[in-house]
Amino acid sequence: MFPPSFDYHRASSVSEALSLLAELPDATLLAGGHALLPRLKNGRAEPGAVVDVSELPELIGVDVGSEATVVGAATTYATLLETGTEAGDADEESDAGGSVGDPTAGRSVLEQHAPAFLEATRAVGDRQIRNRGTVGGNLAEAHPESDLPAAALVADASVRIRGSGGEREVAVEEFLTGAFESAVGDDEIVTAVRIPHVDGWDGSNGGDAEENGSDRNEPTVDNGGAYVRKTHPTSGYAMVGVAVRVGIDDGVIASARVAANGVADTALRLSSVETALEGIDVTTEGVGERVTAAVENAPADVPEATRRGDVHASAEYRVSVLPTYVERAVRAAVDSTEAGSDGGPDSVGDSAPDSDSGRNGRRDQQGGEPR
Ligand SMILES: Cc1cc2nc3c(=O)[nH]c(=O)nc-3n(C[C@H](O)[C@H](O)[C@H](O)COP(=O)(O)OP(=O)(O)OC[C@H]3O[C@@H](n4cnc5c(N)ncnc54)[C@H](O)[C@@H]3O)c2cc1C
Repeated sequence: MFPPSFDYHRASSVSEALSLLAELPDATLLAGGHALLPRLKNGRAEPGAVVDVSELPELIGVDVGSEATVVGAATTYATLLETGTEAGDADEESDAGGSVGDPTAGRSVLEQHAPAFLEATRAVGDRQIRNRGTVGGNLAEAHPESDLPAAALVADASVRIRGSGGEREVAVEEFLTGAFESAVGDDEIVTAVRIPHVDGWDGSNGGDAEENGSDRNEPTVDNGGAYVRKTHPTSGYAMVGVAVRVGIDDGVIASARVAANGVADTALRLSSVETALEGIDVTTEGVGERVTAAVENAPADVPEATRRGDVHASAEYRVSVLPTYVERAVRAAVDSTEAGSDGGPDSVGDSAPDSDSGRNGRRDQQGGEPR
C-alpha cells in the first residue's frame, strides 16, 4: 500500500521539533522510520505531518561518563554497536579496556557494564534495519517484541524526555506503559537513554564513585550479561527474548536481573527467577541443575492478564518456552563472568544448548528447539 500524504518537516533542533509538535497537533515524530513507515503503509497511522528528528546532532551519540553511559535517542543501532564496543588497548591498563590478565581486558565500557544491552542491539533485525533504526525510536515504539526493552530493564536504564516544560527522566519500568504505549506524550521527545554503570553487589546503581574508589569505568563486581531470543522466522521479531545480568561475588550469584520481551504487553522483570538465582554457587558441581530449577517458575512471573499471543505464536506457546530461553540466557550470562569462564567442575555454560540469537550477536536460525 502507498502511505497517505502528509507534510514533512525536518527539525533543525530539539526546540524546533517541540515547537512543531505544539503547532501541528496531528504531527508525529520520525526517527529511523522502521516502525512508522510500515504503519503508514498499512494504514494504521495517518498523521497530518511528520517531524523528522533523525539527523539532530543533539540526539545522536554515545557519551561515556564515569557513572553512566548516555545514548542519544536518534543514535542508530549500528552507531551504538560501533562506538559502544570501542575498547581501550587490551595490552595496557586503561579505563575502558581493563588490564592484562583481566577477563574484561579489551572490552568496552558498555560491554563491561551493560553486555545484555549490546547483545540485544546486535539481535535487532538485519544490517539495514540496524543502520536506520534508533535506540530512542525502539523504546518509544514500545513494541512488545522489540529487543531493547528487556535489556534496558536489566540495565536499570532510564529514558530522558523533553517537553515544553523541561526535561524529566523516567525509569524504563515506568516508561513502558503498555503494548505500543509509553510515557512520552504526543508533545514530547525522547532525548536519550541513560545506562548507569554497575556499582555494588546487590545490583544497585548509584552511590559515590570516590567513596568506593572506583571511576566506574571498570565494574567493581564480576558482572556478566546476555540476551537470547526465539526469533520468528518470517517477522524477524522476538517471540520470546530474555535479557540477564548477574553480579558474582566469590563464585556466588549475588545479584540477578532477568527480564523478558514478547511474552506480555510490555517487557517485564521475572522477579521470582531473580530471587531463585541469587545465592547459587556457580563454581560447584550441580550448578546446571540448580539453574534449571531456578528458572522453572518463570511463567508465574508473567501475569495472566498481560500475556501476549498473536498469529505468530500463541500466549501459551510463548510462556511454555520461556523457562528454556531464561535458562539459556542465564547460562550465557554466568559464562561471561570471570567466575563462570573458569569452567569449574560443572560449568554452567558447557551444557547450554544453541540459541537463535545469543552472545556476541551470534544468530543461528537453525538453533536447537526448546525442550
Ligand atoms: C523488517 C523489520 C524487522 C524488524 N526487526 C526488529 C527486531 O528484530 N527487533 C527490534 O527490536 N525491532 C525490529 N524492528 C523495528 C525497528 O527496530 C525499528 O527501528 C524500531 O522499532 C523503531 O525505531 P525507529 O528509529 O525506526 O523509529 P520510527 O519508526 O521512526 O518511530 C517509531 C515510533 O516512535 C516515535 N519516535 C521515534 N523517535 C522518537 C523520539 N526521539 N521521541 C519520541 N518518540 C519517538 C515515532 O513517532 C513513532 O511513533 C524491525 C523493523 C522492520 C521493518
